[in-house]
Parts: sequence; C-alpha cells; structure tokens
Amino acid sequence: MNRRNFLKTSAVSGTALALASSPLISSCCPKQTEEAKKPETKLNISFQEWTAPGETLSQRLDFMEELGVTGLEPGGRDLADRVDEFKKALDGRDIKISAICAGFDGFILAEDHAEKAQFDETYRRILAAAGELGSTGVIMVPAFNGQTPCRPHTLETRKWLTEQLHELGEYAISCGTTVILEPLNRGEAFFLRQVSDAAALCREADSEGVKCMGDFWHMMEETSDYAAFIAAGKYLQHVHIASRGERKTPGEDGERDCYVDGFRALKEINYPHYVSFECGLRSEDRAATVTAAVELIRRQWEMA
Ligand code: MG
Repeated sequence: MNRRNFLKTSAVSGTALALASSPLISSCCPKQTEEAKKPETKLNISFQEWTAPGETLSQRLDFMEELGVTGLEPGGRDLADRVDEFKKALDGRDIKISAICAGFDGFILAEDHAEKAQFDETYRRILAAAGELGSTGVIMVPAFNGQTPCRPHTLETRKWLTEQLHELGEYAISCGTTVILEPLNRGEAFFLRQVSDAAALCREADSEGVKCMGDFWHMMEETSDYAAFIAAGKYLQHVHIASRGERKTPGEDGERDCYVDGFRALKEINYPHYVSFECGLRSEDRAATVTAAVELIRRQWEMA
C-alpha cells in the first residue's frame, strides 16, 4: 500500500477500531486464557551424538536412558552409511532419532550451479536416510554469511527459494520426514535469522514437508522467546538449547540460562517434538554437568 492509499484507509480506521471489539472479530482472535495452556505437554529431551559421556555410541545411549533422554540427534554426514548402525543401537531402547543436524555439501542459495547441484544431491540423500530412521527432519541453513557466491537477498530470491523448498518438502514427505529451516543470528547467517521469518517461509513454501526450528542460543537476537515460538506455531519441528552466554551446556552461564519464557510458548502450542542439546562444555566433568543441565531444564519446564 502506498502512502496515499494508507491515508485513505486511515479515514475509516475509527470503524475498524469499533469492529475489533465486536464479537465477530474477537471470535477470530482468541484471547490467551488459562485453558490455552497445555501443562500436560511433555518435555522430550534430545542430545546430539557427542553430548553424553561415553567411549561408544552404546555407552552414550545407556547414559541417556538413565537420564530419561528420549531423542538422539546425529549429524547428517555419512548418515546413509550409518542407518543400520543406528537402527541396531536403538533397538529395544526408549530413544528415537530426533532431527538430523545438517551434514550436506553446498547450499541451497548457491549461485554456482555445481555447488547448488551438490546441495541437491547430498541433502536429498540425507533426507532419504532420515526417513528410514523415522527422524523428525533434516536441519538446513539456507546460507551462512561466509558462503559465496550467494543469491542476492531480494524478493525474487525469496520467491525462488520458496519454490525450491516446496519441491524439497514434497520429496521429504515421500521419504517420511521433513526439511527443517534453522534461523541463526546475524553474525552467522544474515539471510535467515528469526524464527517467525523461517515460519513465514514454511507457509509460503506451501508443503507439509517444510518446517522450521528455534535455537535458544541464536534466539538471543529475538525480542521474545515466547513470541518467536508462538509465531512458529504448527511449523515448529525442532528446538536447540545451549547456555545463553557462551553456548555451553545449559546452566553453565548461570542466571542467563533462563528458558521459561520459551517453554511457556511450547506448552501453549502443545509442542510435540524435541528440545535438543546443541552446546559445548566448559566444565571438565561432562557427566555431572549434563545431568545438572537436564535437571535445570526440567525444573524450568515445570515453572513455565
Ligand atoms: Mg542450532
């Protein structure tokens, strides 16, 4: 809308205000009530492959089971060669594959045709393996700041991206999994840095196979964890968690490590997927620190 049209519409804004309080409009905009909260929403905790202590995958899974961690997030690199290994390792355990973390070559916004082709081939191969493992989806960053040459940040590129995502999403569905867009912070990925924008891309891609996620570390750039997750709503397929000062294990940055506001939103949308550790470690005692972190986020989940 240009400025002249805006001024014209402003003339009737009084009528719009009156309508907003009418039963017709308010029924379209449900208020948040106590009933909207879903305190029964379960917190499903997931670890990346190297989060738990242990020399072998089996030892790490034993540790996770002891703690009640029910998701495992492997990296995507070489995933196709490890499908049987993961299937055997998880057989009989109360742990499932959560999301798959990247691991492809090239990037979707590459201007270079060979690099884009490399992305298409390797990302699809990971999607197929992810589907075999029953994964919730394969995480993808459309372009890191350092990845060049990159398509320009224009409307035309955005439209092109949603078309590409639609195709990928449909392929992901055929594999039994999804594409998960991960927004980062502006220091790492200018192209996509807010959860609501990732959700808007999902909507515009118009495929059930295109989803998004939020990472509490990158979300330090959001003005509200709560608003970010509420905006993502049905498109939210995965969550990463780390300490909020230096991206260590939750709790290692003391009082900064508060996730209650975001958890409150996850409960309200009855988020069914995983909150997965993607973090470093400051302490030398991995077992004690990771255990304390799980206790911390369970306490904060209760508070939310
Ligand atoms: Mg992340």
